[in-house]
Amino acid sequence: MALIVHKYGGTSMGSTERIRNVAKRVAKWVRAGHQMVVVPSAMSGETNRLLGLAKEVAPARHDEAVQRELDMLASTGEQVSVGLLALALHAEGIPAVSYAGWQVPIRTNNAYTKARIESIADERVRSDLAAGKVVIIAGFQGVDDDGHITTLGRGGSDTSAVAVAAALKAAECLIYTDVDGVYTTDPRVVPEARRLSTVSFEEMLEMASMGSKVLQIRSVEFAGKYQVPLRVLSSFTPWDIPIAEEAASGTLITFEEDEKMEQAVVSGIAFNRDEAKVSILGVPDRPGIAYQILGAVADANIEVDVIIQNVSHDGKTDFSFTVHRNEYARTVDVLKTKVVPTLGTDRIEGDTKICKVSIVGIGMRSHVGIASKMFRALSEEGINIQMISTSEIKTSVVIDEKYMELAVRALHKAFDLDLDQPAAAAGKS
Ligand code: ASP
Ligand code: MG
Repeated sequence: MALIVHKYGGTSMGSTERIRNVAKRVAKWVRAGHQMVVVPSAMSGETNRLLGLAKEVAPARHDEAVQRELDMLASTGEQVSVGLLALALHAEGIPAVSYAGWQVPIRTNNAYTKARIESIADERVRSDLAAGKVVIIAGFQGVDDDGHITTLGRGGSDTSAVAVAAALKAAECLIYTDVDGVYTTDPRVVPEARRLSTVSFEEMLEMASMGSKVLQIRSVEFAGKYQVPLRVLSSFTPWDIPIAEEAASGTLITFEEDEKMEQAVVSGIAFNRDEAKVSILGVPDRPGIAYQILGAVADANIEVDVIIQNVSHDGKTDFSFTVHRNEYARTVDVLKTKVVPTLGTDRIEGDTKICKVSIVGIGMRSHVGIASKMFRALSEEGINIQMISTSEIKTSVVIDEKYMELAVRALHKAFDLDLDQPAAAAGKS
């Protein structure tokens, strides 16, 4: 008997029939003697529908008054979900009570549409649990110090669930979703991708931030900070499969590295097409130049990812970096207006047709030669590497976008991640 948090995503809550299934699954856990807290998302498509309505009544604006109302509006999706799920549990004969974020309360700062959780009061939840009720808490939302409703950013109910699990010191937080776990890479790109039965928290962070969009990245950060045992699993298994089987399915995000010792050095291949490359050619090679360029970019609140500076010739060098593709135009603008006038070069080149491919694995810490194996696999495919960046547990390359899938497949194979049998049950709905 343990305190368990379940989180159900939008697809799992997508229809009244699916909500009845969620209720049956939760009821099964209750009957097995567990204390249950459930954090659902809005029914699939609902948040988009609500935000679409906002666009119909008024043009998008960024001021606080508008953002406040967007949160007031978007938070209703989850309120519908919790009410329906509580009713469905009652129909199963299970006592249950639902709460909006402000009723718990889940306190956040006042950054509307991207608020951060500051604290979660546990008294009310604990007394309901003690009274034998399932407690259902709306994901994605909270309340600021002045009583305004806030939301946590798209995909934020993952973070709600992990934060609730941390506050209650739950034994485990199970994230039920429409994939059956975390894969070595996206099975749509590599059909031979395998589900990982465990992945370390640090690897997950790298994979989540690089496009393996299983969990909202903040939820992973939260789980790491508060050491919340986290499992990602499918909500499409029959609700009545044995609990022991269900509890061991999916992917467990672990904190211990020892278990991984005998496993592969590289755990997964991540990739994204979200970046663009900007180069400034012929900049003087003297102290302060990197600061002059990237300082201006940082002042404009633009995040820089991979950076490369070449060997200089005749006191001149080339300087390149990547930014999010959405920030590309703004970055070039900042360079032209703030940097070029003082730099003595106006040769700015950009490339939006790039992608970043990374190998990720905590095993890389204790093994040498991993990066060169990566470069060899890419060269055998004739893929040119434009930029490289490394960290303890990851090596990333920037390459031409048109070779992305080829690179991912080649690396997946080179690091022995391929399954013998294609993952037919990739779990994509
Ligand atoms: N309903 C919100 C969204 O669609 C939060 C979530 O699903 O996690 O972004
Ligand atoms: Mg989600």
